[in-house]
Amino acid sequence: ISTGDMLRAAVKAGTQLGLRAQQVMQSGGLVSDEIVLGIVEQRLQEQDCVAGFVLDGFPRTISQADVLETILSNSSRAIQHVLSLEVASDELVARLSGRRSCSVCGKGYHLVFDPPLRDDVCNACGSVLIQREDDREDTVRNRLAVYEQQTAPLKEYYMSKGLLRPIVGVGSIAEIQQRIKKVLES
Ligand code: AMP
Repeated sequence: ISTGDMLRAAVKAGTQLGLRAQQVMQSGGLVSDEIVLGIVEQRLQEQDCVAGFVLDGFPRTISQADVLETILSNSSRAIQHVLSLEVASDELVARLSGRRSCSVCGKGYHLVFDPPLRDDVCNACGSVLIQREDDREDTVRNRLAVYEQQTAPLKEYYMSKGLLRPIVGVGSIAEIQQRIKKVLES
């Protein structure tokens, strides 16, 4: 469950919530807790969450984490693992600013690490590739500053609860996936 994906879908659909979130997302800031908590609380009530779920990009602040704990405990659930993918800032800027995705099927690419066969065209469906507004370099740097200020304190928060699992986030997708699997299975 990716809050970023859900917010981007709301922006694309032009819903009232999307309109409220759009500007702050473009600048790389955080959408208000009220908006994000509303969509997460609703999503966690869906049937496909009964057996468990993975959250991506949420919580991003201590106050979101506190509310998440209440939401889960109200339905007798609890977090089992918090995965922290550790990657140096310069590498993150290179990864995000080269990221592209298909405007139709959503397939992801990277201009250097996983380029399409033809410039700006999706290998899978032939549609045009686009860059996320907030993947432009100056916005990425702002997102990293917001992360340091508002999200990084969550590491301490979850470490004190014995839930934090730091993962080296450098290497191939397959290597990182193996590291995550090992942590979840141990
Ligand atoms: P992401 O796809 O996770 O990088 O999220 C893209 C953007 O959506 C972020 O830069 C924020 O503007 C917004 N967003 C996503 N998740 C959250 C969250 N948990 N709290 C506040 N804003 C969020």
